[in-house]
Amino acid sequence: MDNLYCLRCNRELEAGQKSVAVYLFAQTVGVRPRQKSAAQRICFCPQCSVSLAMGPAPEGALNVAAWQMIRDIVGADPALTEAAWEGLHGIEEANSLLPATGTTGNAHPTRAGAYFEF
Ligand SMILES: [Zn+2]
Repeated sequence: MDNLYCLRCNRELEAGQKSVAVYLFAQTVGVRPRQKSAAQRICFCPQCSVSLAMGPAPEGALNVAAWQMIRDIVGADPALTEAAWEGLHGIEEANSLLPATGTTGNAHPTRAGAYFEF
């Protein structure tokens, strides 16, 4: 199985870990034979899902469509928000264990302002 990474903060998501997956594919309409692109699976960790859902609408129609889906799904069940808080705790602990020269430690702050990248 492929390793999955959060699109926003690039954190690795383990199989079965709480996260939000956005599936995206394109297909032609009114064209025969019908063309269909490969499906892409875009994942967000709980922290980024909640942070995106609470944040302002992003630029771009496609981004707004994805943002609204994430808002719906995050608002529907508090489990994801709870996972986000638990995860934040984990990050603090993980950061204190990582050496200052670690490359992963900087991933979150530098990407914090980023929205979807399609
Ligand atoms: Zn993330």
